Amino acid sequence: MSKLLYLDHNATTPIDTSVCEAMLPWLKNEFGNPSSVYSLGRHAAVALNTARYQVAALVGADPSEIIFNSCGTEATNTAILSALAIDPDKRHIITSTVEHSATIKLCEYLATRGYEITWLPVDAEGKLDLAKLEAAITSETAVVSLLWANNETGVLFPVEKIAAICSRKKVLLHLDAVQAAGKVPINLKSLGAQYVSLSAHKLYAPKGVGALYVNRRARYTPLLRGSQEETRRGGTQNVASIVAFGKAAEIALTSLSTAPEHIKKLRDHFEQTLLSSIEGVRRNGSEGLRLPNTSNLTFSGIDAESALILFDQEGLCCSAGSACSSGSINPSHVLTAMGVSRDEARASLRFSLGRTTTEEEIDRALEIIPRIITKLRSAQPVGGSPVHSVV
Ligand code: PLP
Repeated sequence: MSKLLYLDHNATTPIDTSVCEAMLPWLKNEFGNPSSVYSLGRHAAVALNTARYQVAALVGADPSEIIFNSCGTEATNTAILSALAIDPDKRHIITSTVEHSATIKLCEYLATRGYEITWLPVDAEGKLDLAKLEAAITSETAVVSLLWANNETGVLFPVEKIAAICSRKKVLLHLDAVQAAGKVPINLKSLGAQYVSLSAHKLYAPKGVGALYVNRRARYTPLLRGSQEETRRGGTQNVASIVAFGKAAEIALTSLSTAPEHIKKLRDHFEQTLLSSIEGVRRNGSEGLRLPNTSNLTFSGIDAESALILFDQEGLCCSAGSACSSGSINPSHVLTAMGVSRDEARASLRFSLGRTTTEEEIDRALEIIPRIITKLRSAQPVGGSPVHSVV
């Protein structure tokens, strides 16, 4: 079995050792319900409070603005549905064609319930046209919901400018910061967004825990009704995972001053080497306005699904498109929205580095990838479509 070479940190991250240690007591002796009045319960309530401060600090929010929940997807669903509940006469939502499925699937569903959805396009670099955003806002618009950072290309949307437009037009703004948190500085105090989605498993904490930031002046309607989280999100809190989320946020905040620079250096070396040493390689997404860890590349003429299988045999994990119900890979909606052809999108791979990625790992990846690309290309019929039988 080859040693693991994990370059898929945008999919999920390994749990940091000290995050795991921080959560363990809450899975063992400290099993109290944070709503219970005796000491065991109060310990858990204090731990939740600490985590709320830690997560708030990572994004420059007040702890009272952080509502813990089950995941980034829940945060996004809650934010959009909450905005819609405020004024039932406003039945227009603005989002983009490159959002995460958490937003896309909800908006597609809402369209079937009579809501009007404006899908803002992006250009070839994955950038939004802010004039189009401004022009799309009408008196019927209930909410604008956009990514902070794209999970497939790493492209950063200009959130300050977006927030300024929404504030000028007096429309609610939800931002999906699931990929941005911990990778770029975030200061929600000065931003002016009403709702922001966060998820712990992109931050070296476990899956199945997230948070929604709700600006203290914003109106809000819960998705799950119950007494927890001050009635803002019902359901007994996942104490151990929330403690882990808090610890992970604390570490992410400390490492923001050094880690992104280190990761960017490795990513740029990785990307430049592949772009210059292999024929027919192209970067997807704006070079400058990107997360420091993400590299999305098209290797013309290959089948990304076959590449993933051959990489896996060498221990290398990365991503391509999204799995469809038959188990094969659909061309990425993000890349096709950027004008990449379906064939080129099917030949594209996302590599995402992490805090623990080393120079040695990048060197190993730079040995494996060109070799596999050559192998895949030599297995293609000249001028024909990619063959799957190579693997
Ligand atoms: N938004 C973005 C940009 C993501 O990348 C993800 C996860 O991949 C999500 C939302 C959903 O987060 P979760 O997996 O916690 O539901």
